[in-house]
Amino acid sequence: MIKKAKFLAKEAQLRIKYMISKDCIFCKIVTGEIKSNFVAETEKVVAFADINPIAEVHFLIVPKKHIESVLTISDSEASDLMAMHEVAKKLIEDNKLDAFRLAYNGGRFQHVPHLHMHLLAGKKIDWRKL
Ligand code: 5GP
Ligand code: ZN
Repeated sequence: MIKKAKFLAKEAQLRIKYMISKDCIFCKIVTGEIKSNFVAETEKVVAFADINPIAEVHFLIVPKKHIESVLTISDSEASDLMAMHEVAKKLIEDNKLDAFRLAYNGGRFQHVPHLHMHLLAGKKIDWRKL
């Protein structure tokens, strides 16, 4: 019971700080409502393996703040973008990736309306599925 109350209190704080959206799957991953193994977490960003990988290495790098897409980013979110790239750099270094791709989907190509960057690496990337 106490555990549940603590979870709800933390979730309420996150909800305000990061403009968490109730119906957003990545917001639910950020708050822990949907369990996920983070491969990286910083104050502003989480990263986790894509559930449906199209390459040997396929991580999603996600700002905790609910930003919808590259088309809705504002100047005040520059630090969130920088933080995403810092996490990408760390994952690239930690996993010793000597060749990698970073990709954003947008418009009809974007399926989850919460900004995220794909980090892809490995011999074969199946771009048709991205
Ligand atoms: P988009 O097409 O929006 O750029 O990519 C969304 C990505 O999120 C897809 O590659 C999809 O496999 C991944 N994805 C969707 N739902 C989940 C989920 O619940 N957990 C994880 N780990 N990945 C997800
Ligand atoms: Zn969201």
